[in-house]
Amino acid sequence: MKEAVIIVDMVYDFVYGTLKTDRAQKIIPPIKSLIKSARESGNEVVFVGDAHLPSDPELEVFGEHSMKGTPGSETIRELQPQQGDHVLEKRTYSAFFETGLDLLLRRLNVDSVVIAGLHTHICCRHTAADAFHRGYGVTLATDCVEALTDEDHNSGLEYIKTIYNSKSLTSGEIIESWATGAKFKI
Ligand code: ZN
Repeated sequence: MKEAVIIVDMVYDFVYGTLKTDRAQKIIPPIKSLIKSARESGNEVVFVGDAHLPSDPELEVFGEHSMKGTPGSETIRELQPQQGDHVLEKRTYSAFFETGLDLLLRRLNVDSVVIAGLHTHICCRHTAADAFHRGYGVTLATDCVEALTDEDHNSGLEYIKTIYNSKSLTSGEIIESWATGAKFKI
């Protein structure tokens, strides 16, 4: 069985556009290392970013962002998907909700997911929930997720760890486990 890194919402609007935060930029280098290592170790890389339609319920909460077909919904240049990666679009907080992610992971023989991206307490949390509900192991790459504030970030980390039984590992620890073939223990 394999693991898949799920890169959530590392799209232009979340990093440089309408929902931008400097906090998002600091997770780019560790995510880059993580997905490079995933590719090299035979694990999977799946990008799932917002591509909203005007009628999506979430827009009533956050306003227009990452609209389908606009530059705002494109994966940021620094993390451009490579051949062999997978790219899906989502319209809600969860990377699993009506995106085909579950089918993709099952076909790829993936039994656990590593969650990275934005925001810890919203889309990462909902993605972790749906992974947990479907029986996938969940690991949170703690230095590869961020939110708009410390409080939101920390509450998201804690919630996912406690409620969805996730492992909380740094990208370095995850990369090391892939390199040595060791299974996550934490
Ligand atoms: Zn959204």
